[in-house]
Amino acid sequence: MAFGKPVSEQTVTQERIAESRIMIEQSRLLTLNAASMMDTVGNRVAKAEIAMIKVAVPNMACQVIDWAIQAHGGAGTGNDFGLAAAYATARLLRLADGPDEVHRNQIARLELRKHSNA
Ligand SMILES: Cc1cc2nc3c(=O)[nH]c(=O)nc-3n(C[C@H](O)[C@H](O)[C@H](O)COP(=O)(O)OP(=O)(O)OC[C@H]3O[C@@H](n4cnc5c(N)ncnc54)[C@H](O)[C@@H]3O)c2cc1C
Repeated sequence: MAFGKPVSEQTVTQERIAESRIMIEQSRLLTLNAASMMDTVGNRVAKAEIAMIKVAVPNMACQVIDWAIQAHGGAGTGNDFGLAAAYATARLLRLADGPDEVHRNQIARLELRKHSNA
């Protein structure tokens, strides 16, 4: 796309739909990996992967639902499409099992420990 060319609303929405699908599949694979590790090596070894999905999936859901609300305009904020309720549910999952920051701190600690042992 040439610099300065106006971007149509349709292009923006299509980009967001594509990005949403990419983010959903990334989250799905991250979740399957965590689940597989929990089954094979146990929850203790899989604690970084568990923390990662607790951050990644609700954040992904918030972004995807937020884009859907934006595409629907003001109607997306009401009760007709269920998007506002879906957003509220996804948003509370960024707190309910511990805030994002706590999970990120744990991931960072585990990451640093890996490298300090090397
Ligand atoms: C719908 C819902 C269901 C819940 N269900 C349960 C449940 O079943 N069992 C249960 O035990 N609890 C449950 N909770 C509580 C939930 O775990 C807490 O709300 C959450 O841990 C945040 O604690 P707080 O609300 O006291 O906020 P605070 O601890 O005051 O945190 C406020 C903000 O401060 C920051 N923060 C806090 N701690 C840190 C830290 N260590 N490092 C960096 N930043 C930090 C974060 O930005 C955080 O969002 C639930 C909460 C909700 C909203």
